[in-house]
Amino acid sequence: MTQHIAFIGLGNMGGPMAKNLIKKEFKVTVYDLNAKAVADLKSAGANTADNAKSAIQDADVIISMLPNGAIVKSLYTGSNGLINHVKKDVLIIDSSTIAADDARAVAKACEQKGIAMIDAPVSGGTAAAEAGTLTFICGGEAAHFENAKSVLSAMGRHIFHAGASGAGQVAKICNNMLLAIHMIGTAEALNMGAQQGLDPKVMSEIMKASSGNNWSLQVYNPYPNVMPNVPSSNDYQGGFMVDLMSKDLGLSQELAAKSKSATPLGALATQLYQIHQGTGAGGKDFSSILQLLQKNN
Ligand code: NAD
Repeated sequence: MTQHIAFIGLGNMGGPMAKNLIKKEFKVTVYDLNAKAVADLKSAGANTADNAKSAIQDADVIISMLPNGAIVKSLYTGSNGLINHVKKDVLIIDSSTIAADDARAVAKACEQKGIAMIDAPVSGGTAAAEAGTLTFICGGEAAHFENAKSVLSAMGRHIFHAGASGAGQVAKICNNMLLAIHMIGTAEALNMGAQQGLDPKVMSEIMKASSGNNWSLQVYNPYPNVMPNVPSSNDYQGGFMVDLMSKDLGLSQELAAKSKSATPLGALATQLYQIHQGTGAGGKDFSSILQLLQKNN
């Protein structure tokens, strides 16, 4: 029987993820606070709902892709939260990037009601969300992870089980701290080369074939017009917002303090993104950190 999926949160990531589920012929019902995002999914073939509670009626699987932990907690475990209205045997998959403790709190509340839940944050950005090639990094019971795999495979290429509840979020935050660090480093190197009169396209080719090669250079170049179809070549619109990267870096520093881990570069990256956010860049893609450096040129 076709699985019925409720998808909540249809932003830069959730929208294309839900579309891939429709393409793979799942029955999908969507909800977002933003009516435009809901209308876009309706034209892609989704059923729509006026609120989250209606969206999850009869759902076998609920997927959420929301901005932060406060919203995720309120959706599932707030007063009249969704866990009071789900169908028996439902599987909840939260793909938002949130604090591991928030993920564990929601999973615990689910467990107390006999509801299966995993945290399944993603990596890969909007291009991978559109192409259905995301990496899913999951935390939770092995049996729940196994049950989630067929749905996750419709949206992703690599699906990892990082460990118990919250482990997916820990791994994701470690990854995003590294992403911020190499994006800033890449932007610094390209800006310095360009200031010396070098062509950023040529610089990029050289570094891609050299020891400075990294993901930001390969698929997400921060210098405008080096690569087509990346946010830097589109005035830093779309992609992964500075506000969200700042949130993730904040989570990395909470995790560092809790686990007594030294993350000096992570701390500096957190400050640089906060400064960038303070200049009004919160809604731009995170590769726009180059523009903060260029203010100093
Ligand atoms: P976004 O801001 O584009 O989308 C979030 C969506 O959630 C919006 O459409 C918003 O209207 C909706 N929303 C907010 N509160 C809601 C509520 N209570 N009920 C229903 N809908 C609600 O963000 P995004 O870029 O799609 O990111 C979503 C999550 O994925 C974040 O946790 C982010 O950190 C993570 N993430 C993003 C990327 C990326 O490249 N954009 C990559 C990996 C992970």
